[in-house]
Amino acid sequence: MGSKPFASSADLDAKTETLEVVAEGVWALTAQGDPNVGAVEGEDFLVCVEARATPVAARDWLARLREHTDKPIRYLVLSHYHAVRVLGASAFGAAAVIAHDMTKHLIAERGEQDWASELARMPRLFKEPASIPGLTWPTATFSDRLTIDLGGDRGELVLAYCGRGHTAGDIVAWLPRAGVLFAGDLVEAQAALYTGDAFHHDWAGGTLDRVADLGARALIGGRGAVVHGEEAVGAAIAQTRDFLAVMQREVGAVHAAGGTVKDAFEGTHAALAPTYGSWPIFEHTLPFNVQRLWDELDGIDWPRIWTAERDRDVWAALQD
Ligand SMILES: [Zn+2]
Repeated sequence: MGSKPFASSADLDAKTETLEVVAEGVWALTAQGDPNVGAVEGEDFLVCVEARATPVAARDWLARLREHTDKPIRYLVLSHYHAVRVLGASAFGAAAVIAHDMTKHLIAERGEQDWASELARMPRLFKEPASIPGLTWPTATFSDRLTIDLGGDRGELVLAYCGRGHTAGDIVAWLPRAGVLFAGDLVEAQAALYTGDAFHHDWAGGTLDRVADLGARALIGGRGAVVHGEEAVGAAIAQTRDFLAVMQREVGAVHAAGGTVKDAFEGTHAALAPTYGSWPIFEHTLPFNVQRLWDELDGIDWPRIWTAERDRDVWAALQD
């Protein structure tokens, strides 16, 4: 086998976690490129955003949150179906678990395989994996938009679908009053993208346009630090778009010229690495990203399912 350890399997050092009060009653826990989580305070309840990979990992986050508020968690919002964001859901005791219709569909279609795949790719995030009681099932889903009245004079939290992107069913959580946006994995802040289940063209086009149109003044991406200020939010969105554009250009050129997916991987790696190579999960995700985009260019619209075995095959073919 080659010299590079598989995916993030060798990334075992704990990250420093930072709990930030983004606005009054809005918290975000970031962790140097590990998946972010957050919470929004209602008048007599909490909305939590993202669930982490296991209930034990989720309880670590909730212990930090409980230093600030003891209100009950009424809603758990899941931005998309990926295991590292949903399998800790049982720790929240939420009255409702909210996601997009398509997220529920994807969990039914490929949740088991995704769990095995992500556990092998990112074992450090799965703290005490035996604590996971099973797949996480949303109890309330929607297709376009769902609004939660936060009570009192707190305004509302808008859950919105912006189009296909990182997956077929990403949603964002938007607080118009505070100008704060939880963008899920549709936007990363100085962390590499994962596009293995993505729709590159849609994501780089209309989907990110709709995210940008919200006009956020603070943004919590899927990974990376909280972004403050309209200019910096715009830069994070532009950076996400650029990553996708470079991939589309490089993989597209090799595909059009009748090259191989290995050629496409090497060209894309060389083009992205000067800007993005040092960012979290860059080496981990790129083989899966290139393979998915190659599939799209082959006309495979619906992403093929990643299994632990297919992960290893693609890794061996491209990254080793
Ligand atoms: Zn994801």
